[in-house]
Amino acid sequence: MELTHIEHIGIAVSNLEESIKYYENVLGLKCYAIEEVADQRVRTAFFKIGQTKIELLESTSPDSPIGKFIEKKGEGIHHIAYSVKDIAGALVEAESKGVRLIDSQPRKGAEGLNIAFLHPKSTGGVLTELCSDK
Ligand code: ZN
Repeated sequence: MELTHIEHIGIAVSNLEESIKYYENVLGLKCYAIEEVADQRVRTAFFKIGQTKIELLESTSPDSPIGKFIEKKGEGIHHIAYSVKDIAGALVEAESKGVRLIDSQPRKGAEGLNIAFLHPKSTGGVLTELCSDK
C-alpha cells in the first residue's frame, strides 16, 4: 500500500474541554473543529501540526469503544492514522497478508474521510487506522 503521511494521532480523553486547554495553553495549538461522530459515540476535537492532526476523542457513552478503552487503560494514545492513496486496495492487500481487519470496507469517519481500522493483534499492539479523502 502507499502511505503518504501520518493523517492524525487519536488520543482518548475523559473530558474534551479540559484536554483542549492543555493543547491550546501549553502546546500553543489551536482547536479548529469539534465534531460529534454519532455512530462511534465520540466527540472529537482537532488540532493541526503541519500535515498531521491531533484528534482528541471523548466518549459520549460508557460502553462506546473509547469509553471502554479509558475504563481499561485510562487516558492516552488510542490509535495512529495513516493517509493512504487507495484505501479499498490497501484493505485487500492487508487482508491478503494475513492482517486482521476491524473494517473490511471503508466507512465514513470524522471530517468526511473514508476510514478503516486494522486490528491491533495484527499490528504489534497499535490500533491502526487508514484514511483517504476519496
Ligand atoms: Zn482516528
